[in-house]
Amino acid sequence: MRCPYCGGLDTQVKDSRPTEDASSIRRRRICPDCGGRFTTFERVQLRELQVVKKNGRRAPFDRDKLVRSVQVALRKRSVEPERIERMINGVVRQLESQTDGDIPTERIGELVMEGLKALDDVAYVRFASVYRNFREARDFNAIVGELEAEPEPTPAREAPRQRRDAPAS
Ligand SMILES: [Zn+2]
Repeated sequence: MRCPYCGGLDTQVKDSRPTEDASSIRRRRICPDCGGRFTTFERVQLRELQVVKKNGRRAPFDRDKLVRSVQVALRKRSVEPERIERMINGVVRQLESQTDGDIPTERIGELVMEGLKALDDVAYVRFASVYRNFREARDFNAIVGELEAEPEPTPAREAPRQRRDAPAS
């Protein structure tokens, strides 16, 4: 496995264990050349998936590309790598089970949006804004509306202040 920092090919596995849901093996690796540390995941691939783009073109499904777009959305957000990995696994498993092997790109976008919504609101809006391109203002309003509809524990608000000079009725 090539070191993502220096490109060295001679990285070593320091630790190897299954993830919490036992769907992947997580390996911590170290690069003896630069001392860089990184993590890789080994997982099952049930079948080959083909992505069908809007123009009708097909391309092999690229999990890494999906991971990269999710990571861009999650930039500087503190979400554990394992939760991200589990979310991606869930998306891929759904793609594998719901299709005959051909996936429209929109389907991937929808599943990722669903997954991100459960992980991190900010990442969700970021991803959705790129994915949906906010062609229409109401897309944005719909997304914000969806977020607001989520029940979240909020601190009790102060009661609105009463105007003292209000005329007595
Ligand atoms: Zn290195």
